[in-house]
Amino acid sequence: MTLLFSLTASTVPVVGSDRLFPVRRVYCVGRNYLDHVREMREGDERDKPFFFQKPPDAVVGDGARVPYPPRTADFEFEGELVVAVGAEGVDVPVERALELVFGYAAGIDLTRRDRQRDCRERQVAWEAGKSFDASAPCGPITPAAAAGDVGAAELRLTVDGAVRQHTRIAHMIWNVAEILAHLSMDYRLMPGDLVYTGTPAGVAALRPGNEVRVDIDGLTPLTVTIAERKNHATH
Ligand code: MN
Repeated sequence: MTLLFSLTASTVPVVGSDRLFPVRRVYCVGRNYLDHVREMREGDERDKPFFFQKPPDAVVGDGARVPYPPRTADFEFEGELVVAVGAEGVDVPVERALELVFGYAAGIDLTRRDRQRDCRERQVAWEAGKSFDASAPCGPITPAAAAGDVGAAELRLTVDGAVRQHTRIAHMIWNVAEILAHLSMDYRLMPGDLVYTGTPAGVAALRPGNEVRVDIDGLTPLTVTIAERKNHATH
C-alpha cells in the first residue's frame, strides 16, 4: 500500500543544531496567569487552568507572514512560553515531569477573540476561536540545558516595537512541571508535542502590517508579521 498523497509534519528549528523538531501535537493551557483571567472576566479566579489543542499544522516559524484569518474582526495575540516535549510520559509525577522537556521556545497563541467569545456564549467548543490555520507561531527551540532557568525568565511581547505584554514566567498559576504532570494524566505525552503555557495580561487586537515579537530571557526571539487577509469568501 502506498499513500495517496504525502503529508509533511510541521517542524521547528533547534537552536545550535541543524536538526528540526517535528511537531506531533499542540496543547495549550487556558487561564494560567491571574492578571489575564481578570482582564478576560471569565470564570472564577479560583478555577483551575485547563487545556485545549491546536492542529499541528497551525505551527509556523520565526519570520512567518501570518495571514489575517477569515471571519473575525478581533484577531488577538497571546505571548507564551512554549515547552517542547522530548520523551514519552503517562501519569508523570510533578517531581519527574521536567525530565520530559526537550527544550523551550517563545510562542504566540493567536486567537479570534470574537469567535472565542461566541463559542463561550453558545457553550460550544473553542475550535473556531483558537484552532485555525497559522494560529500557533513558534520560535526556534532552545534545548533545556542551554536555556538557563526559564522559571526565572521574563516574557515580553511587542507590537511594532511597543511593549504590550510583560511578565515573569514565575507568575504562572501552574508551572511547567505541574502543566506536564496534569497533561500526562489525560494524554500520553510523546516526543514532538508542544505545550503553550498560557498568556499574561495585555492581549489586544492585531492589524495587517503589525510586527509581533516575543522575547523570553535565555531563548531565541520569535517575530512574525501579520499579512493581509487571504482570499476567503466573505459574507
Ligand atoms: Mn493562550
